Amino acid sequence: MIQAPRGTSDVLGEDALARERVAAEARAILERAGFARIETPTFEATELFAPGVGEATDVVQKEMYTFDDGGGDSLTLRPEGTAPVCRAYVEHGMHKLPQPVKLWYVSTFFRRERPQAGRYRQFWQVGAEAIGSDDPAVDAECILLLGELLEALGCRDVTLVVGSLGSPEAREEYRTELRAHLRAHEDRLSGDVRARIDSNPLRAFDAKDPGTRQVMHDAPRLLDRLPADDLDHFAEVRALLDEAGQAYEIDTTLVRGLDYYTRTLFEYQSGTLDAAQNALGGGGRYDRLIEQIGGPRTPGMGWAAGVERMLMAAPAQPVAPAPLDLYVAYAKPEHKAAAFRLAADARRAGHPARLELGGRSLKGQLKQADRAGARYVAILGDEGTSLKDMETGEQREVETGTVMHHITQGL
Ligand code: AMP
Repeated sequence: MIQAPRGTSDVLGEDALARERVAAEARAILERAGFARIETPTFEATELFAPGVGEATDVVQKEMYTFDDGGGDSLTLRPEGTAPVCRAYVEHGMHKLPQPVKLWYVSTFFRRERPQAGRYRQFWQVGAEAIGSDDPAVDAECILLLGELLEALGCRDVTLVVGSLGSPEAREEYRTELRAHLRAHEDRLSGDVRARIDSNPLRAFDAKDPGTRQVMHDAPRLLDRLPADDLDHFAEVRALLDEAGQAYEIDTTLVRGLDYYTRTLFEYQSGTLDAAQNALGGGGRYDRLIEQIGGPRTPGMGWAAGVERMLMAAPAQPVAPAPLDLYVAYAKPEHKAAAFRLAADARRAGHPARLELGGRSLKGQLKQADRAGARYVAILGDEGTSLKDMETGEQREVETGTVMHHITQGL
């Protein structure tokens, strides 16, 4: 039997309802703050991701689903949402709108990762991007909004960590210093980290193996090397978080898997998840990304949070069964057309209504109506129509044409 590909899953029943709840909470929280919904295509030109996300990142080097579209163009299933939103910002001339432009999304993303709990090959993210302002208040607002979403969903044991990467120029100087530190201790580093000393030395802070971790413990910290304007920006972000009563920890080793970040970087983590994938969501500032993908230099700030991970960290909510006002049962095939019409009329009038479609006996139909939680059951038979109130058990003969009137009155 053919199965869903590894690292993907079908979303059914209560899982589907839980996801809808995440999307509804995100919409309420983000639209209250002036974010408008954006939907970008599922695939993009491959060259959008390499310069933006970073040539030396895991995402670009080994996790992208890239294919030739048969017409000579290389396309890639979106591995993340920020570069596509930035592409849309430039393509639609959104710099002409009042800045910052605030956009949010809830969509599927694709990465060829090793599937495990909380890590899939197709996953959902809620994301928010505020493009066109470098005001630290934008950073603080974005951080608070994700915190609000996690709280609304009831995610447990959540901590916020923040850091700053400074400008690319400041980072380049620091990278040279970090490379020298890594080279001096090369023999204790994992092969993966060693291979990336030149291209992506900062990722060594993310490594999980004990040797590398020891080396990184004594490594110079970027935060100690940032110039005054970057430090001032970071200080104001923190002051605004303090002002809003948002607790956080400063993490001088925080690096996230995407290369486009400048200045503010943050992550919400949950103690309920495995340490290797404890990030519910995170993001940061990306003041050079739009330039890297061919647009004018435009500052931006945003985040993405994993829907599956947020649900893993939140207690399951009891889901109320969908209401059913009317179940239409019929005794014989010759009543089927009238029953069909009654159910259709009831739905058109706004009542959740279902017709017997399983070929059950009348007894079976009544059992089914009960199981579905129907408030009323109409039974069409030779002697006319009878309407049963499932709450009181009362049953009476009515004209078929008045069923709607009766249930509207009763409800
Ligand atoms: P990123 O886009 O890498 O910054 O990831 C943002 C969030 O998306 C993470 O904190 C996770 O919650 C979620 N996420 C990222 N990759 C995956 C994946 N492969 N499977 C499930 N969730 C993911």
